[in-house]
Amino acid sequence: MQIISLDGTVAIVTGASSGIGEATARRLAEHGAAVAVIARRKDRLDSLVAAIESGGGTALAIEADITDQSQAQAAVQTAVESLGRLDILVNNAGLMLLGQIAGADIEEWERMIAVNQKGLLYITHAALPYLQSAGTDDVRGVADIVNISSIAGRQASANFGVYNMTKFGVNGFTEALRQEVTKQHIRVGVLEPGAVLTELVSHNNQQIRDGLDASDDIPERLQPEDIADSIAYMVTRPRRASIAELWAMPTSQV
Ligand code: NDP
Repeated sequence: MQIISLDGTVAIVTGASSGIGEATARRLAEHGAAVAVIARRKDRLDSLVAAIESGGGTALAIEADITDQSQAQAAVQTAVESLGRLDILVNNAGLMLLGQIAGADIEEWERMIAVNQKGLLYITHAALPYLQSAGTDDVRGVADIVNISSIAGRQASANFGVYNMTKFGVNGFTEALRQEVTKQHIRVGVLEPGAVLTELVSHNNQQIRDGLDASDDIPERLQPEDIADSIAYMVTRPRRASIAELWAMPTSQV
């Protein structure tokens, strides 16, 4: 398989303080990218940076709440000023709060929309000018945006309504942006994981978690590293090849 090195590139991974984002930052650094890792839990980011650096890589921790437009913009600015350029953006930060729509806590809806959609938009908007430069210069002559959606961006289910809405929205936005910038050699793709073993479910209340445990019919979830591998695949294709959509499921999930 042809794998294009990420030597000389700079990547941003949002939501890198745990789960898929953390594993992705490590994987992209192994492929040669300098990685700016963004999230709110700075202690977790500092540990990740130390681990990447001890393996010979380059990384930068940036504490930011991406739901705040000025923090999102400043985070991208800091990454570019400190690491020199921007080639790859992985919009991974996300929140999944489940429950029925009738009687729901509307504040939970606001938080999901703020992270899964507005945060992704703010970071993307700030990053695009730098990615446009990377699409034309001589490091790779191509740039990448990978948006992390979900199986919940393809299939709606009871109790997932607002999470479904945010992820279906991510899919639509990704394809629209792809059409706008692909001829500038910015590849824009969406990755839709099935169930992955991370902290994602832990943000729900005990009743929701008990319900999920009771109905659990997925004996073996994906590991975050499985999704990191899929992301690495998308961003190490030859310049001519753009993976616009990738659906990555546990074998044991219908
Ligand atoms: P985690 O809960 O482990 O990771 C979520 C990340 O998002 C954390 O690093 C968190 O960092 C960050 N984040 C949340 N809110 C903000 C914010 N306001 N500003 C900046 N960062 C924020 O879950 P996963 O790794 O599973 O989730 C990653 C992505 O994968 C999400 O988009 C999720 O929807 C998607 N996904 C996950 C699946 C799964 O089964 N796990 C399946 C399909 C998709 P911090 O709290 O430090 O800010």
